[in-house]
Amino acid sequence: MIIKPKVRGFICTNSHPEGCAANVREQIEYTKQQGALAKGPKNVLVLGCSTGYGLSSRITAAFGSGAATLGVCFEKPPTERKTASAGYYNTVAFQEAAQAEGLFAHSINGDAFSNECKQQVIDTLKAHMGKVDLIVYSLAAPRRTDPKTGEVYSSVLKPIGKHYTTKGLNTDTLKINEVSIEPATEEEIANTVKVMGGEDWELWIEALAEADLLAEGCQTTAYTYLGDKLTWPIYGKATIGKAKEDLDRAAKALNEKLAGVNGRAMVSVLKAVVTQASSAIPVMPLYLSILFKVMKERGTHEGCIEQIQRLFVECLYSANPRLDADGRARVDNFELEPSVQAEVEEIWAQVTEENLFQITDYKGHHEDFLKLFGFGVEGVDYDADISPLVKTEF
Ligand code: NAD
Repeated sequence: MIIKPKVRGFICTNSHPEGCAANVREQIEYTKQQGALAKGPKNVLVLGCSTGYGLSSRITAAFGSGAATLGVCFEKPPTERKTASAGYYNTVAFQEAAQAEGLFAHSINGDAFSNECKQQVIDTLKAHMGKVDLIVYSLAAPRRTDPKTGEVYSSVLKPIGKHYTTKGLNTDTLKINEVSIEPATEEEIANTVKVMGGEDWELWIEALAEADLLAEGCQTTAYTYLGDKLTWPIYGKATIGKAKEDLDRAAKALNEKLAGVNGRAMVSVLKAVVTQASSAIPVMPLYLSILFKVMKERGTHEGCIEQIQRLFVECLYSANPRLDADGRARVDNFELEPSVQAEVEEIWAQVTEENLFQITDYKGHHEDFLKLFGFGVEGVDYDADISPLVKTEF
């Protein structure tokens, strides 16, 4: 079939296998160019390994540090007539590249919140990898089934306390209109914490500890976003921000549990980037289009792979990590520079449908969005008739 993007609002319902593979290769190339990590991880578990920050973490561990990796993701395999989800193709491409270099790489496609998946990971580690020295928690999910009760919780992206009205970019029509979002109920806040908070991260570390699969000195990190004034009403100080605060609680609890193996749990604060998860957040497409413009002009623009490279080098595997007062690793420093935020706010106030392409980098944002699904990648022939099936599966 000839595969062209089918975009519906903030998602693309298909993906291009060769484009996805080319994206993965590009990230691997970047990592290799940075040189080997000193004292990096060797046996790594990545939860949410197939796209966005999790995929980049896996690439950095494998190709920057020669690590064996076990990845967990929730992706749709291809059929004769339908493409797989991008994360599926990414994972296949990652595994092929890792194995070609003699690196152990295995992936599990399942619900990371479930007990079954945790058991599968434990069995795989025992059979093939042994104790892990880094566990990256990079899940972004809209719902979670509680493994104890079977109850399903859904997260919401809503403000807290009062309703919030702001500018929003409709990425289908490129119209800028006012969006108004009602505040979350107490139940919605609690449910969002249940899905995106620290409980599942803790369950993972407890399960691995019980199975004696945590190496001496192991580290675990979960990813968060803090942002600044423009995104606070819908992120930092909203339902998802509450869930992220719960990661700080979980990190403290985990640090106590990890003391026995001299381990460390840390929340890592990353910058805003275009991923499937961030595309679903109101405000983000417009915020990111402006942020890209400002940061590209300053030469400080970064995507997932550049962020994770810095996270590993400057924080996780540094003798002198950049931590904030709450003990979180920080690589969102360039985004949060006051002068960057001030310029973003200035453009935010001025942006209209007419000047969108002049005063923001919507073009770059949109290219990144399509790239998430393997479209618009240099060197890929999008008119070629190809099969959505892949040679190897996982
Ligand atoms: P993403 O959508 O690209 O990746 C999510 C990953 O989770 C995928 O690998 C997906 O397969 C996996 N996943 C989802 N549900 C699952 C389930 N039930 N079982 C197993 N795997 C499942 O998202 P992302 O933007 O890379 O987000 C990863 C983390 O980084 C999140 O915690 C997010 O809050 C954080 N973060 C993101 C940004 C950003 O701008 N995108 C900024 C800072 C922090």
